[in-house]
Amino acid sequence: MTAVPEIGVLALQGDVREHVLALEEAGARTLAVRRPEELERVDALVIPGGESTTMWKLARAFDLLDPLRKRIEAGMPAYGSCAGMIMLADRIQDGMEGQETIGGIDMTVRRNAFGRQVDSFESDVRLDGMDDDAPYHAVFIRAPWVERVGDDVRVLGRAETGTNAGRIVAVRQGRLMATAFHPELTGDHRVHHYFADLVRRAMEQED
Ligand code: GLN
Repeated sequence: MTAVPEIGVLALQGDVREHVLALEEAGARTLAVRRPEELERVDALVIPGGESTTMWKLARAFDLLDPLRKRIEAGMPAYGSCAGMIMLADRIQDGMEGQETIGGIDMTVRRNAFGRQVDSFESDVRLDGMDDDAPYHAVFIRAPWVERVGDDVRVLGRAETGTNAGRIVAVRQGRLMATAFHPELTGDHRVHHYFADLVRRAMEQED
């Protein structure tokens, strides 16, 4: 039998509770992560939506930024939604002066990209590799989009409707994945199931 993964949710700021519920529904155990000791315990990490500048400052203040970078470099699976996508990007545009990320995904993300036009935006997105190919109804709130990806990054989805059609909004690089939208806010938890499966497979490889 495969072990039930324990997936941490970075709980410095943002919509932590919604991710916890979606992950538990996907069969994972969860732990709110605020301290390096908690980060050490988990098999994987979700970085929620919220505000990336606040998350960055709190991660610095709680001495979590370097431990987060080290665990990701060591192969811990991680998934970021919206602000979490920004935190996992190697490069950001329109960040706050001096804004740092954890990094890990070889991409450039433009912060508040959709939000410059409207604060929130909805679009269907078909996600590559999900359980069924019904389009995902995606909710974007002052969301980033991905401007550029490196060769090792797989594009999982693009906005399909509206003036922003074609923009990259979901990516995966190895054990890291990110979406510009918030699957934790809708009842459709395919993204969390996909991530929980990725985590189970990563744990089997390490056994
Ligand atoms: N605009 C926010 C940021 O820069 C992201 C918004 C969100 O997570 N809903 O972090």
